[in-house]
Amino acid sequence: MRLNGLNILITAAGQGIGRASALAAAAEGANVFATDINSEALASLSAENSSIRTSRLDVTKQSEIDDLAAKLPKMDGLFNCAGIVHNGTVLDITDADWAFAFELNVTAMMRMCRAFLPGMLERAGETGTASVLNMASMASSIKGFANRASYGATKAAVIGLTKSIAADFVKQGLRCNAICPGTVDTPSLRGRIAASADPVQAEKDFVARQPMGRLASVDDITPMVIYLLSPESRFVSGQAMLVDGGVTI
Ligand code: NAD
Repeated sequence: MRLNGLNILITAAGQGIGRASALAAAAEGANVFATDINSEALASLSAENSSIRTSRLDVTKQSEIDDLAAKLPKMDGLFNCAGIVHNGTVLDITDADWAFAFELNVTAMMRMCRAFLPGMLERAGETGTASVLNMASMASSIKGFANRASYGATKAAVIGLTKSIAADFVKQGLRCNAICPGTVDTPSLRGRIAASADPVQAEKDFVARQPMGRLASVDDITPMVIYLLSPESRFVSGQAMLVDGGVTI
């Protein structure tokens, strides 16, 4: 088992990529600590796999992060998956949406790292490796997409934060990478499609930008998550790993 006995903490594990990652990590033998703001989603996750321990966590709340860090054991892996997509060009952005996008997609990630890195560095000292994985996107510093102004800015910031953490702790055995998925069929993507003026066309447009002619499933993404969290990726740090179905060919 590729994560045997490792303590892995995941944010936004209630649905989508985070949930699939929690299940995949548990299947690889990890002690999974799954968190989300949505308690019902966490209850259904632990009903699906009773070995997964769950805690409600709003990653935008420093006090909740501190409480959790005080309660949990030291982590070998941290997957910061939480994030939100706002639609629109720079002409559409409100200050409030911009601030919230950075709060959830970037600041919360920094706070999670600040809270959990001390324990992870101790683990890295004992075992030789610990891994932080940050959720970025192909829509970031890697590629521009229409109507993703604030989202692309936040995910570019995630890649910058990832590289800085990687540089700061490379000599202490702590690695930090970002994962950059293409368009993944998740509940929030379905919500964005349903909320558009023409949902049928919106889905066609999402599929059309994927050269393989289909959306990713969450199971297309989890193998990279497992790889980056596991000691198999021990010589990989500071990278933004694309799993985009060929969009950036
Ligand atoms: P999703 O958007 O369907 O689910 C997100 C989860 O985050 C939900 O369970 C929700 O309850 C939780 N959440 C929301 N606010 C939270 C908060 N403040 N604290 C803790 N949890 C919170 O899942 P998804 O589409 O897999 O997206 C997950 C991540 O993947 C996001 O960072 C997203 O930007 C990124 N991503 C998604 C896609 C895609 O096409 N779906 C592509 C690239 C990157």
